[in-house]
Amino acid sequence: MLISKTRFINYIRCDRYPALDEIHREKNKAVVSFSEQDDLSDLMSKENEAKISVLLESMIDEHNEDILVKTNPQMETMLKYYNEIEMISGRIIERKFKGDTIYALDTFDQKRFEYELEGYRFYCFLDGYQEDKDTIRIFEVKSTTSKKFLDMTFKLDDQRLSVFEYSPESILMLREDLGLEVNEDYHKKLKKLRNRLSKEGRYFYDIAYQRYVLEHTLKTDKNVKYYLGVLNSKYVHQGLVDDQNKPIYSDDLITFIDVTEFTKSMMSIIEKDQKIVMDRLDEMNANPVDLGPHCQRKDSRECIFYPICYKNIPAKNSIFTYIDGHHGFKDELGEKHDRFDLINQGYLTAFDVPYNWLNREKNKVQRQVMDSKIAFMENHKIKAAIESLKYPIYHLDFETFPCPLPRFKGETPYTQSLFQYSIHIEHSPGVCHKDHDNYGFIAKTHDDLRRELVETMIDIIKDDGGSIMVYNQSFEQTRLKEMAKFFPEHQERLLDMVDRLVDLMDFVKGNKKFFKSLGFDDQQADGFCYYHNDLNGSFSIKKVLPVFSHLKYDGMPIGNGTDALVAYANFPFMEKKEFEQTYQDLLEYCKQDTWAMVEILDALRKQVN
Ligand code: SF4
Repeated sequence: MLISKTRFINYIRCDRYPALDEIHREKNKAVVSFSEQDDLSDLMSKENEAKISVLLESMIDEHNEDILVKTNPQMETMLKYYNEIEMISGRIIERKFKGDTIYALDTFDQKRFEYELEGYRFYCFLDGYQEDKDTIRIFEVKSTTSKKFLDMTFKLDDQRLSVFEYSPESILMLREDLGLEVNEDYHKKLKKLRNRLSKEGRYFYDIAYQRYVLEHTLKTDKNVKYYLGVLNSKYVHQGLVDDQNKPIYSDDLITFIDVTEFTKSMMSIIEKDQKIVMDRLDEMNANPVDLGPHCQRKDSRECIFYPICYKNIPAKNSIFTYIDGHHGFKDELGEKHDRFDLINQGYLTAFDVPYNWLNREKNKVQRQVMDSKIAFMENHKIKAAIESLKYPIYHLDFETFPCPLPRFKGETPYTQSLFQYSIHIEHSPGVCHKDHDNYGFIAKTHDDLRRELVETMIDIIKDDGGSIMVYNQSFEQTRLKEMAKFFPEHQERLLDMVDRLVDLMDFVKGNKKFFKSLGFDDQQADGFCYYHNDLNGSFSIKKVLPVFSHLKYDGMPIGNGTDALVAYANFPFMEKKEFEQTYQDLLEYCKQDTWAMVEILDALRKQVN
């Protein structure tokens, strides 16, 4: 059996994964067991076949379509940028390290290593391989940024220091590899890097697997070095373009992290994991196992079998509904219970958690609402928030394109590049026309149209002190501040807009700082302003809107932020007719977002008056 890096990482998740994977791939021909004692006759039994069929029904529908493999339009849209990052990295490796370099998008052209153990063939493809007369360098390129590594800090005496530092050659290295002072706290922080499920450690685990395969394949006296290549989060695009108008990047776009010493210390982990993987493949046990962080719920690496293993957890009012539930729940004796431990003991619904284990006020409110089905409402707080508004209110919403590679001058990797806004002007309480009071802008091409966007926006949003209402303020606030930096001539107006921002989400979810600014004391200012059973633990506008309005996103050709960015990303490849239709659909979508705010505010106003 062939085992790639991706398979290895999945097989190490849990005992059940390899068997589910076998059924997913082999369908009715799969040979898996449902007990540790199964012998050959058990494996071929009718009972076994029936159990496989039940699992298969959760994997393929009546038309034989796979229901587990979901398309990810955002991922597909970004793929071209991810590929470009790999090719750019390859060229930078060639220039920076000098030597014969092998890099390619097609795995067929990549350097491949493979070795066999007890009938299993472990293999890996390398994003970059370089060899000179003394050294072999191995590169794993990731479309993430250096930020998560640079953000890792530890405390030494009274100072907070970075776990990673740049070498004189501009290679990011662990402090200890540079001979700098470290301490116990530093080593504690490194645990994250050894955790294959953490957002930092997953990349180290990937390259550690590559190294393990390589060390069992490649016999060499040369020095072998291992590097992660990631986007430099501090890189600022200078706006240079070539004769085809494509951005020109300097070599510091990519940060190389020397992981040679660290991955060496991970070889024993991979060896242990390899043994576990082989045992699991030998056993092929498809019985349910404990759920936990290994499922990577709601993560970009969420397990493909999530719908199967989590099918008993209700979609509404499950234990996951409790806000901040990942911190666990404390029983009457003060003992803390982890959420997954509770799930594995059968506490699946929100009602299964004893009321006196709910130590957070917000969770108590949620439970009271779930039990009574009566919405919770802090009228006086909502009223005070509404009374603090200044008219006209400008309801504002942005759409952005988080391009991995900066496109325009001043942008960094993954800058949320603005391409659209919608504004509804509410002249006085409740006085706003859905169409006549709406103003929208969409960048029709992938040219840099930020100036036009900003200048038309500040024309519409007057310098009149009116509140600027957004939903989830930090997003719009950060974009406005970025624009103020890019266009210093409009800085004053844009920063004035920042000062006038009001977050409608605060009127529902609550926000201690905001309500304190309105004169509430510490205790009053804290907590929800509103909770409804249908919110199911979420205050996203898509959840809040149906509670207050009949307005719906269902059925809209563009119905969420991902659809919007995919539509914009595809503009240059559309025929005229398709473009015109998509442009209209995008306008409608963004308009709906600001109109939703008008409706929610109006509904709140009516409820408190
Ligand atoms: S969802 Fe979780 S328990 Fe189920 S196979 Fe995946 S990792 Fe294992």
